[in-house]
Amino acid sequence: PLRPRAAPPELQEKTLVLVKPDAVQRRLVGHVIQRFERRGFKLVAMKLLQVALPTQLPPPPLRVPCSRCHAECWEGGAKGGHPLGVPTVTLRCHQADRGLLDKHYQQLQQKPFYPALLAYMTSGPLVAMVWEGYNVVRSTRAMVGDTNSATAAAGTIRGDFSMHVSRNVVHASDSVETAQREIGFWFQRDELVAWESGDRDYTYGP
Ligand code: GDP
Ligand code: MG
Repeated sequence: PLRPRAAPPELQEKTLVLVKPDAVQRRLVGHVIQRFERRGFKLVAMKLLQVALPTQLPPPPLRVPCSRCHAECWEGGAKGGHPLGVPTVTLRCHQADRGLLDKHYQQLQQKPFYPALLAYMTSGPLVAMVWEGYNVVRSTRAMVGDTNSATAAAGTIRGDFSMHVSRNVVHASDSVETAQREIGFWFQRDELVAWESGDRDYTYGP
């Protein structure tokens, strides 16, 4: 609209969606985005990133200055290193080192599958997005489906696009509070774009 009205707070709920590395490899990024767009949700942030790029190089020095922030943000190495058994170097900070995943999956660090989960999430680029709209956290979880792809309902993203819990295509925040925290892990404040959609009356009614 030429003169946008600010959306009321209940329409500004936000959630974090990750299109995981398996889905990027399988060229499913567009399919996932299309589902959220069709539903009527609004995209307010998006980026492609590689977390903690594994390298085939010999082990790097214990600490490598980040080329972006010039801080010593490297976290692998001496204390056990990368779960794949290869050294990792954080090439750019961009919050995209292994520590980001440790925060993101804080509740799962003690699970036996956690090393496999880290290897999966760092195996290739992923797409991080923030979607906004009424009840977006709950609706997105419903659209994503069960964690276990094998039992995810047909019609959900996992039910339609994946076979196994270890390669389940997407992540979606599980509560409004979690979403706020997770968005803060993955995005800087100024990476979120506030914009008003001209079709709001047709999306939500009066
Ligand atoms: P979500 O919120 O539905 O993604 O599920 P959880 O928060 O419980 O788990 C986070 C992610 O960990 C899942 O999406 C899977 O990628 C992974 N995961 C969960 N359970 C298992 C498991 O039993 N085996 C493996 N390999 N990965 C799992
Ligand atoms: Mg979860």
